[in-house]
Amino acid sequence: MAYDTYEELAALDAPRIRTEIPGPNARAVVAADAAVTSPSLPRAYEFAPARGAGSVVVDVDDNIYLDFNAGIAVCSTGHSHPQVVSAIQQQAERLIHYSASDFFLPVYSELCARLDQIAPISAPVKCFLTNSGTESVEAGIKLARLHTGRQYIIAFLNSFHGRSFGSVSLTASSAQYHAGFGPLLPGIVHAPYADSLSGFTDLEHPDTPGYIEKVIFKRLVPANEVAAIILEPVLGEGGYVVPPKAWVRYLRDLCDEHGILLIADEVQSGTGRTGKMWAIEHFDVEPDILLAGKGIASGMPLGAMIASGSTMTWERGAHGSTYGGNPLSCVAALETIDLVEKELIANTNEVGALLIDGLRAIAGRTDMIEQVRGLGLMIGIEFESAAVADAVEIACFERGLLVLRAGDKAIRMSPPLMVRAEQAANGLKIFEDACAAVSSSR
Ligand code: PLP
Repeated sequence: MAYDTYEELAALDAPRIRTEIPGPNARAVVAADAAVTSPSLPRAYEFAPARGAGSVVVDVDDNIYLDFNAGIAVCSTGHSHPQVVSAIQQQAERLIHYSASDFFLPVYSELCARLDQIAPISAPVKCFLTNSGTESVEAGIKLARLHTGRQYIIAFLNSFHGRSFGSVSLTASSAQYHAGFGPLLPGIVHAPYADSLSGFTDLEHPDTPGYIEKVIFKRLVPANEVAAIILEPVLGEGGYVVPPKAWVRYLRDLCDEHGILLIADEVQSGTGRTGKMWAIEHFDVEPDILLAGKGIASGMPLGAMIASGSTMTWERGAHGSTYGGNPLSCVAALETIDLVEKELIANTNEVGALLIDGLRAIAGRTDMIEQVRGLGLMIGIEFESAAVADAVEIACFERGLLVLRAGDKAIRMSPPLMVRAEQAANGLKIFEDACAAVSSSR
């Protein structure tokens, strides 16, 4: 079947693999790339995409994949959603750029007003728009310090907040992110994240909830010098780990008690991914500052730092950005938010439940999987070892299913929020087949 249009490609019964993987054209792309691109780029496997529609991606060899990565939790509305494409095209014909930092760009404030409607903060909010997740985090660090007049920030082990200097200093998912770059931003202290794998299943656990008070406040930094606690409500890069509800509420209470800001980094978990617009809503907790990125504009570069007006107290000139909130990204975000709110959250819950149930059934049939966890379409599968998780990732790729490693020994699934039930079923079959192949070669 030809797939000239978005509709034809998105409807295709993927995957269809027609060459060895990677194919000859992909291998040529990889070889050419090595000569000219920064060797720092992490690169998971040799996938060279050429085109995408919905949850389907075609590589440079015309192999067709089922994409359970969504460009790493970015293409929330699927690849090249026609409404998003048309909004970008129309905007490009009218105005590609004018800096909202120095002038008044109507679509910038229109998007900020839309973010106000969906923010998980009951007071009216103000927004600062950025080009990426890491810039949202940097903005959060600066605002938290300035607003509170305090210097310290508490972040969590296993978390990922980005790679620019401030955000990489918060990041603690792998020492590789810090290697050779120190000393990092001073004033950052890490605490254990309360995750089910470490046995921290509820607030009663003696170590994790108490750590901030018993160790940080008592031994390291007085609470009244802490500006913020920054939290991924569901760990992203750290393995798609869902913390206990009581722990997140405890953090909110701790912040209230000591005048500390709670920053929710929802760059990966936000924009409907977990089946609510923001993951923090699962915990009945309001953050003081919310950071968005990735899925917010379906792949156009956009991030946001959102905070109540009483928190966003910095003055004219304190922060800005040339491109942040550029018109093309703003219109893409407006379309994305509409689609997510009206259609995709419901689909995320429905198909997410199918996937989690299916994966748990698979876990029951193999001894390689230790845990299946997740919310909505943010799903982590914990394997017995890193080697097995690596092998399953590649076995999926070879069979036309795109998934990605996360954490120490997990695989993450983050399909587009419009993934269909039959695609989920297909993905499950391939995933089980990949697991079986790895299991038999152990
Ligand atoms: N925060 C979280 C939770 C993330 O998952 C990421 C990226 O993976 C970032 C921040 C950084 O975003 P970006 O890569 O757009 O700078």
